[in-house]
Amino acid sequence: MKKTKYFASRRETPWDSTLRDNVQEFIRNEYLDDYYEKHPALSDSNEASLLNAFVPVCCPNCRSLRFTRKGFTSNGIQRYCCRDCGKRFNILTGTLLDNHKISISEWIGFCLNLFRHDIFSSTSANNKNSTTTTAY
Ligand SMILES: [Zn+2]
Repeated sequence: MKKTKYFASRRETPWDSTLRDNVQEFIRNEYLDDYYEKHPALSDSNEASLLNAFVPVCCPNCRSLRFTRKGFTSNGIQRYCCRDCGKRFNILTGTLLDNHKISISEWIGFCLNLFRHDIFSSTSANNKNSTTTTAY
């Protein structure tokens, strides 16, 4: 029985570590283009401009209304500093997307798959994530 290679990452293709002919190079590039379209870097995903349109109501730590702007995160999201407790926060602090590593558009696509009751392997294949990421 022939063993199939286990690909740790959905980004990998069978030709990553070998010399490629033109067809293999074309398929690999198309596959990676699709991968990076589904997994944009947070800084490339325009979500900062969407999130910066919202202003926090109060400090998520102490509920104070006295806070000021305090620069931006590395992803361009407005950061605030509370004048009462001194904690820094942004619009996502204390939410499901706090310190998220993947873009909001990717989260939305993932949630739509889950709400359609797709199985994990199908969801992970659609989002080009590992099945363990989907289960997590
Ligand atoms: Zn506070």
